[in-house]
Amino acid sequence: MNKVYDSIIIGAGPCGMRIALEFKKKDVDFLILEPGTPGGKVNVAPRVDNYPGFKEIPGPDLAVALFMRLMDAGIELVPEQVLSLTKKDNFIIKTDYNTYEAKTVVICSGTKEKKIGLEKEDELFGHGLSYCALCDGHFFKGQDVIVIGGGNSALKEAIHLTHVAKKVYLIHRRNEFRGSVKLVDELRNSSNVEILTPYVPSKLLGEDKVTGIEIAHRETGEKKIIELQGIFPAVGQIPNTQFVDIPCVLDDYKNVPVTMKTMETSCENLFAGGDVLPRDIRQIYLAEHDGIVIAKNICERLGK
Ligand code: NAP
Repeated sequence: MNKVYDSIIIGAGPCGMRIALEFKKKDVDFLILEPGTPGGKVNVAPRVDNYPGFKEIPGPDLAVALFMRLMDAGIELVPEQVLSLTKKDNFIIKTDYNTYEAKTVVICSGTKEKKIGLEKEDELFGHGLSYCALCDGHFFKGQDVIVIGGGNSALKEAIHLTHVAKKVYLIHRRNEFRGSVKLVDELRNSSNVEILTPYVPSKLLGEDKVTGIEIAHRETGEKKIIELQGIFPAVGQIPNTQFVDIPCVLDDYKNVPVTMKTMETSCENLFAGGDVLPRDIRQIYLAEHDGIVIAKNICERLGK
């Protein structure tokens, strides 16, 4: 018979790490599963300028600082990938190495990058096409690159690249930007940026590596070819929830809706927080807030 944990946290981003710290204080018997680098998306944020206590901090530095708090508290991450989450009397979690059983579970597994869906996108990935300017931007020193998208991710990636690349193009499918006006202004004031709207990418050019991109004007249909070496799509996120095998927990977009007061899903004792929620604003401090609410409610449920 499997040991039954009080709780299992799926994902060690800001939400999961916050829950782990609160659980440790209350002696909850828990595991935190994370196959990647702790910190989640924080690791690939070029800079974070809206985290309380810091004017501005590089994302990876903040991720390390958050993780150090776990290390100091003696919390170890279990480096396993969740393959399925089901429910019988308790929750059953199958990972790539083990099967675990728990009374409560938290889904805080974050999101992954949405693809633009053009031919050769997978082949050119790692050969001039990247979803992370912070991780790969330095490969494009003195070269020409393009960022695709109009949200805060695209704007921040483009700003980061202005300090590395010779020229940065930004294309967005609408004339209005979804991201913040402050970032758009900062970008407009950069000397090596060209913003093109309303354009969409229509063809990725290059055989073994990126040599350019064809873009199409959304209103006139006019096409333009830009020769460049780097393509950075930043067109949004898809929740990492493919392992959830419990009816009615996910919405049509694979997000996990919760009751905001408790952060509990439609399934009793299953909670969710951070970027997997269907919300417009995804921020580190919001994920931490979710974590605190979740930890409080689970501890109450467990009588801790
Ligand atoms: P997002 O806000 O959803 O923006 C995605 C952008 O990609 C939108 O401009 C969208 O255009 C465009 N797009 C979507 N599909 C496309 C396609 N197939 N072809 C071309 N363009 C496409 O995603 P995000 O920028 O990754 O941000 C996600 C969340 O994290 C947001 O809440 C954001 O504010 C937050 N975030 C915050 C920070 C921060 O430091 N404050 C940094 C990064 C992200 P439309 O606008 O026309 O839909």
